[in-house]
Amino acid sequence: MKLSTDLGRLTVITGPSGVGKGSLVKELLRSQPQVWLSVSATTRSPREGEKEGRDYFFLQKERFLELVAAKGFLEWAEFAGNSYGTPRKPVEDHLSKGQPVLLEIELEGARQVRKNSPNAFQIFLAPPSFDELERRIRGRGTDSEEAIHKRLTRAREELNAKNEFDAVIINDDLQLACYQVQKTMGLNV
Ligand code: ADP
Ligand code: 5GP
Repeated sequence: MKLSTDLGRLTVITGPSGVGKGSLVKELLRSQPQVWLSVSATTRSPREGEKEGRDYFFLQKERFLELVAAKGFLEWAEFAGNSYGTPRKPVEDHLSKGQPVLLEIELEGARQVRKNSPNAFQIFLAPPSFDELERRIRGRGTDSEEAIHKRLTRAREELNAKNEFDAVIINDDLQLACYQVQKTMGLNV
């Protein structure tokens, strides 16, 4: 199925770990409850407070690979030692009902969506500076030193790719960034 604009619109938000994607998306859904946020599958362990089916579907690697083989993911990628993927069916179902759908995914996944769904709108969320990004990842207090290191290395690669995106929004003030994201998505604010 081609995910096109005559159905609901598909929007992708990408940006380095710790930039504030999760915080921004939460804010956005509060003011735009008609938007449907895809719940991804991952092989990483739940963080404190994360709930199965709300934050992620937490899967064993074997089950994840079965779903990959069955073409159950719209896109999937490895990130900092774990696998992440967007379940295909719910996205297609919501789009076919005309609902705007949001994916919050990393760079490789965004590239796959760009290839397969060229009409999807792609937003890159950038930090005000790399130092501030590191402060946010550390301040979140959820990752080991090794995971932080992997995430910072990957963040540099992701930042270099920001010009591939339809819009680049800097998350300095969260409310302002959220307003700008809604505007670029063509939503009424
Ligand atoms: P991501 O989902 O991109 O990994 P999070 O939403 O988990 O990022 O945010 C990482 C940390 O940065 C959290 O502690 C969050 O409260 C904080 N944060 C998010 N946006 C801002 C902002 N605009 N200014 C300061 N801190 C922020
Ligand atoms: P975290 O472990 O911090 O929740 O997520 C790590 C990274 O994986 C983030 O950049 C997040 O956007 C990305 N991610 C979450 N779900 C998916 C997904 O379904 N596909 C892809 N490609 N990336 C995802």
